[in-house]
Amino acid sequence: MSKENFSIEFFPPKTAEGAEKLRATRAKLAELHPKYFSVTFGAGGSTQQGTLDTVLEIMREGQQAAPHLSCVGSSKESIRAILAEFKSHGIRRLVALRGDLPSGYGGAGELRYASELVEFIRAETGDWFHIEVAAYPEMHPQAKSPQDDLQNFARKVQAGANAAITQYFYNADAYFQFLDNARKLGVAVPVVPGIMPITNYSQLTRFSDMCGTEIPRWIRLKLASFGDDSDSIKAFGLDVVAQLCERLLAGGAPGLHFYSMNQSAATSAIWQRLK
Ligand code: FAD
Repeated sequence: MSKENFSIEFFPPKTAEGAEKLRATRAKLAELHPKYFSVTFGAGGSTQQGTLDTVLEIMREGQQAAPHLSCVGSSKESIRAILAEFKSHGIRRLVALRGDLPSGYGGAGELRYASELVEFIRAETGDWFHIEVAAYPEMHPQAKSPQDDLQNFARKVQAGANAAITQYFYNADAYFQFLDNARKLGVAVPVVPGIMPITNYSQLTRFSDMCGTEIPRWIRLKLASFGDDSDSIKAFGLDVVAQLCERLLAGGAPGLHFYSMNQSAATSAIWQRLK
């Protein structure tokens, strides 16, 4: 697999203890030599400082890092200031998103969609940033239809995105279909599958319900049958996800982006299997 498109995602820790744990996680994951680590950004700027602090710490450790940046609930002025700050620290890569505001949280902001954010970043900073955007092989849950969502994805690329990372999924065919259809719309950029290791059944179902990922019936039933037997869940999860990764890479996926959940064990184990 090309290292160019192998990346690992963290969220910014909320406590000093979390930050310490993440340092240990990073030290382990750095041994896998990913191209870069990315750090999520709370919609509305709620983790703005934490995201930047984590990114700068990763860069000081000699690794490449990419902050995520979401536009929902934000003004152009505030996004402009964040871009200037990223630039002043020599950050050259970012993941541009719309984000999701918690219900009841103010207005949508001046940039309604990620495509508008990408357009704004290009207008403000030219080619300074390598921009990744999100893609949804199983459709974004708010989209009108898969076709509509695909058009909206293509719009983000036309606005100037260099590459995309997908929402996680467990149906390899959904990815291959999505990619074929995107190519037909003229999308030529790498679309890197997002990979969610399976380590905890209840957490996985909660996340998947929120983001519109389908857990295939055979996987759900098997995970449910393990009850509280966390070792069996992890062992089965490793088999399922490593096989998914193998299939994706064999089918031409340009790399993998791991949603690490700030843990190293599952991502490392999958990586070792792929070797
Ligand atoms: P968009 O591309 O703007 O799409 C959102 C919805 O609007 C879709 O249904 C789309 O079809 C529709 N749409 C787009 N353009 C138009 C248009 N012109 N007219 C009508 N409809 C349109 N969230 C965070 O808050 N912080 C993060 O750090 C973060 N990181 C993520 C990383 C990855 C790799 C992924 C896949 C998701 C991440 N998310 C993050 C979640 C993401 O913010 C949500 O999925 C959000 O609901 C959509 O963001 P988007 O950038 O895909 O939005």
